[in-house]
Formats: sequence, C-alpha cells, structure tokens
Amino acid sequence: MTKNIAAVRGMNDLFAEDVIYWQHIEASLRRLASMYGYQEIRFPLLEQTELFQRTIGEVTDIVAKEMYTFADRNGDSLTLRPEGTAGCVRAGIQNGLLYNQIQRFWYMGPMFRHERPQKGRFRQFHQFGAEVFGLPGPDIDAELIFMSARLWELLGIKDQVVLQINSLGTSAVRACHRQELVAYLEQHKAELDEDSLRRLYTNPLRILDSKNPAMAEMLAGAPKLLDYLDEDTTAHFDKLRQLLDAAAIKYEINPRLVRGLDYYTLTVFEWVTDSLGAQGTICAGGRYDGLVEELGGKATPAIGFALGIERLVELVKAAASLKAAPDIYLIMVGELALQKGMLLAEELRNDLPEISLVSNCGAGNFKAQFKRADKSGARLALVLGEQEVAQGLVTVKYLRSDEMQQQISISELVNFLEKRS
Ligand code: ATP
Ligand code: MG
Repeated sequence: MTKNIAAVRGMNDLFAEDVIYWQHIEASLRRLASMYGYQEIRFPLLEQTELFQRTIGEVTDIVAKEMYTFADRNGDSLTLRPEGTAGCVRAGIQNGLLYNQIQRFWYMGPMFRHERPQKGRFRQFHQFGAEVFGLPGPDIDAELIFMSARLWELLGIKDQVVLQINSLGTSAVRACHRQELVAYLEQHKAELDEDSLRRLYTNPLRILDSKNPAMAEMLAGAPKLLDYLDEDTTAHFDKLRQLLDAAAIKYEINPRLVRGLDYYTLTVFEWVTDSLGAQGTICAGGRYDGLVEELGGKATPAIGFALGIERLVELVKAAASLKAAPDIYLIMVGELALQKGMLLAEELRNDLPEISLVSNCGAGNFKAQFKRADKSGARLALVLGEQEVAQGLVTVKYLRSDEMQQQISISELVNFLEKRS
C-alpha cells in the first residue's frame, strides 16, 4: 500500500469554518489599513540569509535557532522570512521608497520559524504588519496604537486585550543602563536560568523579557531603563502617553518590555491577552530608528508592529460565531428544469450580484436535493420541477424558518428576492 504523505509539522491546512474567520479578519485588516491611508507592500517569502542575520541579529532566538535556511542550487544561502520588517526595509531601500519620504506600509502573509509546534505557535504562521518610515515623533507612535486598538473594536475583542508600553531610550541611554544591568545580574548569577546565562553578555536586555517565574522577583528589582531616560526621550514618552490618555486608550507601563536589538529605540508596545494561555502576545510593535541606516540606507526614523493572525483567530472564534452559507440553493428536478434552471441561475447572478447562489449540480430526486440544500446552510431553496417549468413559476421554500412556502412567477423573481435580502 502507498504511504500517505503528511504536511510538514507545524504547518496547517485551512478549510471549512476556519477559513471564514480568516477571511473576516483579513477583510477587517484591509479595511483598517485603508481607513488610515496605509499602502500595501509585497515582498518575497525568500531573502538572502544575510538580511535576517544583519537585521534581527545573531544573538536572537530567531536567527540562532529558528530560521529555515538552505543553500539553493547556486549555493546561495537563502532563508524563508521569519518576520516582515527586514524584507520591508530591504524593499524600501532597494526601490528608493524611503529616501526623504513619508511612507505608511502594510503587509500580510506567511512567516516561517522552526519552533516547537504547540498551541498558538506554528512553523508556518501568518502576520499582518504595519511599518511607517520618515516620521520621528510620538504622534505616529500613537497612530499605530490607535490603529491596533480600532482593530480589536472592529473584531469585537476589545475586552480581551491589554496594552503594555515602554521606552527603550536611545542607544546612549541603553549603554548606560546595560552596564548597571549586567552588574546587577552578575550579583544574581546563581538565580539565572540557562537562557539568561547565555545572554548575560550578548543580550542582557532580553533577560528582562524572560517569562521564567523563578526569576520574576529577582528581575523586578533590576535597574529599569525608564529611570535612565534623558530629557528628549522622556519627552517623547510623555507625549505618547498624553495622546493615549486623550483618546482614552488604557495602558500599563511595563518596564520589562524590551526588544533585544541595538537598532530599537524609544517606544515599544505589546497587546497581550490572558485568554490564550502561555502564548499571550498577539501584537508587538516598536520604533527602530537605527535599522534603515544599518541596512545601508540613509538614516530614517521608523516604527511598526506585527500581529499574529492565528492567535487573533482564536480570540475572534471565542467572541463571535461566523458561518459560511449561500443565500439560495436552487433545486432542479428533471431534464427540462435543469435546462431552464441553469440559465435562471445565471440571470439571477447578473441581476443580483450580491447574492450567493448554489445550483444543484449532479441531479437527484427532490429528497436528495433538499438534503443538499439543507446541508448548504442556505436560507432559501428555489425549486424548479416539471410542474413549475410548465407554469413559468418557482416554488420558494424557507429552510431556516417555519414560513409557508410560496410560488412566484419567474418574471417576478428578481423583484421578490431583492425585497427579501
Ligand atoms: P513570542 O514571545 O510569542 O515568541 P515573538 O517575540 O517571537 O513572540 P514577534 O517576532 O514579535 O514574536 O512576532 C509578532 C507576533 O507574531 C507575536 O506576538 C505572535 O502573535 C505572532 N507569532 C510569533 N511567532 C509565532 C509562531 N511561531 N506561531 C504563531 N504566531 C507567532
Ligand atoms: Mg518567538
């Protein structure tokens, strides 16, 4: 017997009810982007490995252990994108989109990370991202947060998410903080877990981000970046807070919210939920004023966020019940009815393009066709049998209510359906 071939572990097929949630969320995201005047940008799923090594950084989990990297037939090292910012910035520089310009971009699509698959964590997962270039001020930081807040509203999950913000200051601020942080952590070396020991000199800031409960108390006492901010960075953070307050967007300041990379500056934020267990971050964003220059462009302020669509799907599923069903199922019994009905269906689609209509293909008696009609979830069945064809009528049956069936003349049908929808 031939062995079945399964999908790659951690990579999912999407079908049936699930797809409805995806389509709903994707449509809401497109709508959101358009409401704020953001332009879509599309860039490849594959990039030179070096792009991610340089942007995400050698000492991060993503580059150190999670990337799908391989040599192609020319021997070039390529990597499936683990996130979108690097490709977006590369595309922006290469196409001259960032030089002395303001750009508001969005993208959506699959990302790839070789992580241990579990709830809320996959190897092919999907992100929506927004990236803005050329604006240094806290106003755009606030806009991105407003935008994400509006999404929760659109999707009906506002009460399940909490906003956390922090400021990472400038690299000078961080250098100062880093010294004292390392000194503090050295004093508590015995309490550091394996991951944290590995990061102590390469990426100490990331240790603050550790979810290990055994270190929580010790980390709560560590030097806080916020206490090291200079005047300008404090002003930036204060202005952002003012704008959030004015828009009545609630937030928590989380001094341990960090990004462990040098090019991150100033504002960082996350939307978290406790409805999804351990994988609680659904949206993460921050300012990365140093990245464009790092990749060879002219220094350009930038900020963006990325949100995980799989985790969003879980939240929306818990909050709303969406179903995919056509409006109408057309039943045709007999050769003449089929002849007439196939054309009638086309005419209805011409005249009522908003309506979703499924024709019964594959023949069958009344009973079999009604069974399919019912299974389709349609609200109405239009029935064409020999008798209806002879009289120029259709029978309308209500599949989801007790309303009495009725007969409508074919010439009146469009009018009738228009009123019913
Ligand atoms: P985490 O702490 O969950 O590992 P991260 O810092 O690696 O997150 P980012 O790179 O900031 O995540 O990605 C932004 C968002 O993308 C996350 O908040 C999450 O919603 C989603 N995400 C990241 N990795 C995965 C994954 N392997 N599977 C599903 N969603 C993911
Ligand atoms: Mg991760």
